[in-house]
This record gives sequence, structure tokens and C-alpha cells, in this order.
Amino acid sequence: CGIVGYIGNEDARDILLKGLTNLEYRGYDSAGIALLNADGIHVFKEKGRIAVLKKTVDPAVHATLGIGHTRWATHGEPNQRNAHPHQSASGRFTLVHNGVIENYNQLKADYLADVILKSETDTEVVVQLIETFANEGLSTEAALRKTLQLLDGSYAIALLDTEDKDTLYVAKNKSPLLIGIGNGFNVVASDATAMIQQTKRYVELMDEEVVVLKKDSYTIMDLDGSTKIRQPYTVSFDA
Ligand code: GLU
Repeated sequence: CGIVGYIGNEDARDILLKGLTNLEYRGYDSAGIALLNADGIHVFKEKGRIAVLKKTVDPAVHATLGIGHTRWATHGEPNQRNAHPHQSASGRFTLVHNGVIENYNQLKADYLADVILKSETDTEVVVQLIETFANEGLSTEAALRKTLQLLDGSYAIALLDTEDKDTLYVAKNKSPLLIGIGNGFNVVASDATAMIQQTKRYVELMDEEVVVLKKDSYTIMDLDGSTKIRQPYTVSFDA
């Protein structure tokens, strides 16, 4: 039901947990975060309140890149296993998703016959497809775009790749997602209230767009990989 992401120089864990707390008003049944640092990827997710999640997040894990999610289950009951983030078979890719992938069963049958899925969600199919196409030799950005071209339905997505610790990938179609621009950092949010403490400068995304975020740049492209130029606007409201 909500997504947050951070790439910069500060401690992502606290920023993500604060962002998720700001999204609590939207309702959710589970919550989770993933933190990517030099040691690798660290995923924490729980059924229930963000207060429960906070207790399970290891305070010793520090990272300057991460993603977070509050889930409103559509496919697969609310439990720890079905909570986001979801990971690919090898653990290389970690993803959060809002929305519904309508053709996930068909995609599973067409592309993932050899993959043992770890959850009952429509979402896991997305991260497994990305890894499948990356294993065929595509770059992460190309594997993400190829996957999105196959999806029917709605998505706001944030993706981490353990083989690239300086990049946060996001994408959107028929589900809200904004990029927040900072000085030396960037954030992602399904709703500006999530990240209003971090920045008031946002870039709106259109449907079927992908963004490759670094801590000091953002590149917007369509699903064919053509880049688009879009300037930030300043949000002015009291949150
Ligand atoms: N369809 C996904 C699921 O059930 C995402 C739900 C959401 O938007 O929170 O896990």
C-alpha cells in the first residue's frame, strides 16, 4: 500500500522506518525494509504494525541505500513470507511493489517453470523475471524494462541489485510514485507525506516509466529505454 526508498549518505534505516510510519494512515497488514551495504542485502519484514518491524530490524546494520513497503495484501494471505520485500532465487535482486499483476499466473507458466517461488504473491513473479532476464545477459535496467513490458496491471516498484550498490531502480504504472530530490541524496515515495521531512522537491513520474536513481542524479526513461527530461517541482503544504 506504500513504498519508500532512499539513496544517499545518511542512515537509510531510520529514514525508511520514519517514511513508513508516515504512511501508516493509509492502512496495511505487513511491513518490511531492505538495506544494501558492503556486506550485502539485509531484509526485515513482519506481519502487523511497523512497531513490530522496528523491533526486528537489526540496529547494527548501517546502509545508505534501502527500500521499504507497507502491504495491503491482494494475492497471498498477510503473513511474514508474503510480506515485501521479495527476493529473486539467488538473492541478487530485492523488490517492493504496490499494485496488482493481473497476468502473474501466465508469466509464471511461461518463464518461471524452473523457479521455486517462496511466496504466494503476484509480486514475487516480477523479481524472479528480472533475475531470469539478467541471467540471460541483460543489464539490470534492461531486464527490468523487459519484465515491465510483459506485465498487465498496476505497479509502483522499487528494486535493489546486490551487484550494484550505488543504484536504486524504480518504475510506475497506474499506481502512485514520486521521486524526491535532495542535495547528495534522492528518495522515492508513493506519496509525498512519506518523505516530506527529507525534501520538498519532487519529480512526478508518468505511467510506464523507469527511473535509475543515484545519490546525485536521476535518469527517467520509457519502457523502450529512451530517456526523458523532467524538472522537479516544489511541494508546498504543511505535513
Ligand atoms: N499485490 C501485492 C501483494 O499482494 C501488493 C499489494 C500492495 O499494493 O500492497 O503482495
